[in-house]
Amino acid sequence: MPAGATADYILTGAWGEKAVAEARKIGDVHVAADTSAGGYRDLPATITLSAQPAYVHLTSNETIQGVQWHNLPDLGAAPLIADMSSDILSRPFDASRFALIYAGAQKNLGPAGATVVIIRRDLLDRGRRDLPTILSYATYAKNDSLYNTPPAFAVYMLDLVLGWIGDLGGLEAIAQRNQAKAGLVYGAIDRSGGFYRGHAAPQARSLMNVTFRLPSEELEKQFVAEAKTAGMVGLGGHRSVGGIRASLYNALEEESAQALAAFMDEFLQRNG
Ligand SMILES: *Cc1c(COP(=O)(O)O)cnc(C)c1O
Repeated sequence: MPAGATADYILTGAWGEKAVAEARKIGDVHVAADTSAGGYRDLPATITLSAQPAYVHLTSNETIQGVQWHNLPDLGAAPLIADMSSDILSRPFDASRFALIYAGAQKNLGPAGATVVIIRRDLLDRGRRDLPTILSYATYAKNDSLYNTPPAFAVYMLDLVLGWIGDLGGLEAIAQRNQAKAGLVYGAIDRSGGFYRGHAAPQARSLMNVTFRLPSEELEKQFVAEAKTAGMVGLGGHRSVGGIRASLYNALEEESAQALAAFMDEFLQRNG
């Protein structure tokens, strides 16, 4: 964000909120769209950009709410920046639509500790000069990401994961696999007659994080506990929103989604 410029933020969940809070420390911010009034269930119907945004930031998949962009909004010439931490390489994407993509490795790419940044060259030249060297993307670009000692193990693992994705058939194959996994879990929600209530509006449903509620918090606690006994861990929703969250990142096998869907059907029979 150059001095004196305004940056626009599209808020569809908790990570967008965090991003905009950080941006406010740096300069002027305009919230171009914000779906919090509806509980972050959907993508915005309208986006109102500022006159000349330095960039427009969105979160391609809001991990906590389970809301994902399936078609990018048309933002004209404004440089688009995306936090893709929780859905990068989950499906093919048109990198040319973005000025900058960033993603923590720990969801779909490998171990925690590495962050991937894909940045258009002209943005490197436009970057602020008053940043500490280590915080400037130009430093990384100029030094082949070896200005400081990188997390070599995490980078090595990331390379193995890329090879694994290639062996599976690339992003088209991964996308099919992820569609199938999400379809299994959303299917269990949709045939439950309202026992499971999906958080996201159907058109905004995330293929990575399936978020839903049960009729009561007691049943949600029981669901999480029994799922754990059945070998399925990590199903409690983020503490800020509660409910259930099934994360179906690339590494999760289709059999695991099948097992969860079967457990959901069976839990409903016993408790519905
Ligand atoms: C996980 C995540 C992050 C960063 O997570 P840390 O655990 O703080 O490294 C950022 N954005 C999104 C969308 C995420 O899902």
